[in-house]
Amino acid sequence: MKPATLAHRRELCFWGWGYADAGLTPAEQSQVAGLAAQLGTGAAPAPAPRLEEFDLPAPRVAAPARLAAIMSATPYDRITHGYGKSFADLVRLQARTMAHPPDWVAFPRSEDDVEALLEFAAGSGAAVIPFGGGTSVCGGVEPDVGGDYRAVISVDLQYLNQVLEVDRSSRAALIEGGALGPELESQLKPHGLTLRHFPQSFEFSTLGGWIATRAGGHFATHYTHIDDFVESVRMLTPRGAMESRRLPGSGAGPSPDRMMIGSEGTLGLITRAWMRLQDRPRFRASASVTFPGMPQAAEAVRAISQAGLFPSNCRLLDPLEAFMNGVGDGNTALLVLAFESADHPLQAWMARALELLADHGGRWDADSVQRSMAAAGGGEEGGEHRKGAAGDWRNQFLRAPYYRNYLTPAGIIADTFETAITWDRFEAFYAGVRERVGGAIREVSGAEPLLSCRFTHVYPDGPAPYFTFYCMGTGSGDMNAMLDRWRTIKLAANEAVTSLGGTVTHHHAVGRDHRPHGYDEQVPPLFREAFAGARRVLDPNGLMNPGVLLDTPERGAVVGGVLRHPQ
Ligand SMILES: Cc1cc2nc3c(=O)[nH]c(=O)nc-3n(C[C@H](O)[C@H](O)[C@H](O)COP(=O)(O)OP(=O)(O)OC[C@H]3O[C@@H](n4cnc5c(N)ncnc54)[C@H](O)[C@@H]3O)c2cc1C
Repeated sequence: MKPATLAHRRELCFWGWGYADAGLTPAEQSQVAGLAAQLGTGAAPAPAPRLEEFDLPAPRVAAPARLAAIMSATPYDRITHGYGKSFADLVRLQARTMAHPPDWVAFPRSEDDVEALLEFAAGSGAAVIPFGGGTSVCGGVEPDVGGDYRAVISVDLQYLNQVLEVDRSSRAALIEGGALGPELESQLKPHGLTLRHFPQSFEFSTLGGWIATRAGGHFATHYTHIDDFVESVRMLTPRGAMESRRLPGSGAGPSPDRMMIGSEGTLGLITRAWMRLQDRPRFRASASVTFPGMPQAAEAVRAISQAGLFPSNCRLLDPLEAFMNGVGDGNTALLVLAFESADHPLQAWMARALELLADHGGRWDADSVQRSMAAAGGGEEGGEHRKGAAGDWRNQFLRAPYYRNYLTPAGIIADTFETAITWDRFEAFYAGVRERVGGAIREVSGAEPLLSCRFTHVYPDGPAPYFTFYCMGTGSGDMNAMLDRWRTIKLAANEAVTSLGGTVTHHHAVGRDHRPHGYDEQVPPLFREAFAGARRVLDPNGLMNPGVLLDTPERGAVVGGVLRHPQ
């Protein structure tokens, strides 16, 4: 039976990734069983949680009559808004614990509703958490706000999901903040246009969430973050609306866009934005190139990134990452390289890239590269040319999040962390992160670390390495003990990437979980103070997502988050 909800979307798996009626195939599930056997987890997979197993206190404030029809306190709505989708979130759902459920989940139908909600929050002393798709992996939507708030309202923008206007000549569109990736793409398609921003969470994350977190998408070079596509933003703050002017570029002082982009719900709610669009690509060329080892492969990628070729995909998988994704033998690194264009054939670009890769020991199958170029005009993400290692890897990439629904109940810690570093420091950084985080994994699990790396994005001055690790949780099915082990590894990862000179996040955002040993140390103290000052102007009562990015000292808030408050 469908749970009671005010959401209009298909029912979600409230304790994991994806829709309630979607899951892995039996063959995919047997891969999880294989990994569990390899890691030595002995416990039988935990049964799926049920909504009635959660003990939720009654909302601490009453919904006002004006807003009652759009505010929900059903268990499904509160639990689906009580966490994001980090490993810690999934484990706590398995443990059937939610220490900080939102008192209410609001589903505004208009900007007027959003303004009324902000007024209600100010009047009743409630904190407000903007909620897009809830795919945050860093505690960005968790109502662990600390302080003396009288309640927490999670504001889900899913009804604001329309493409409102298309400007064909400037190739831009005005899109509402609550639109999921597939929702906005299906509305742009009849115009022959695309935003072409494809994070791995594309299906379940929203435009407003992408802008608020500076999400990283499909393009490995050039247009890496959503920032590059934002023409103007409209945000409703507790002090009123703030909207930047539509411009292709501007040198008029500090950019208002830049203040709203990446604000992670701490300044207001992004209700709409004008976004730069692209024509749909017609020409594609792809190649899978192997290298005898990571150092040669990294040098090859550096050469590509500095050649001005701007491949759309330039994903380098280290030997373990390629093996774990079923596209390598465990000894060779693999580069998945692709070019695409709506305008011109790509032979020359691919030929030059392959020359550079050959200089560094790269090997590829020339026939399959030729076939990829012959297939110009294949479907949106499909087409014959997508078969082979590049296509296999891509399918695996999109399926990967669904595995988490099986890994966590099986007692396996599986998580990722991502960063960026300049080329001059990459070699020492890669070795240092593997040593330090690998050491933490060894310490908690007693086993040799399974810690792999790929480059998600590359710049002329450095790559964005993305690490994945697996280890045994506890072997006993004790979810709280598993959470403790994860916490040790996560803090080691925050500390390693930051102290070795990288960023605590290249695109996953800061939230609550990337502050300790990470963002708090990375950002200059004066900048933090200046940002806090701006925030005080826009949000004088400190209502907006307290604990994310900054403390909320004026209310005496204790900074929340699973890393600071073991539960
Ligand atoms: C399996 C998986 C894969 C992922 N892959 C990627 C990836 O490839 N690239 C990437 O960048 N990230 C990725 N992420 C992280 C996550 O999807 C991104 O951070 C995404 O941008 C969040 O969008 P959302 O709509 O789900 O936002 P939410 O999770 O709902 O919110 C994230 C933050 O933004 C704020 N926020 C949300 N909407 C608004 C709004 N309209 N106005 C103001 N603030 C708002 C929230 O308060 C919160 O602080 C992945 C996550 C998962 C679980």
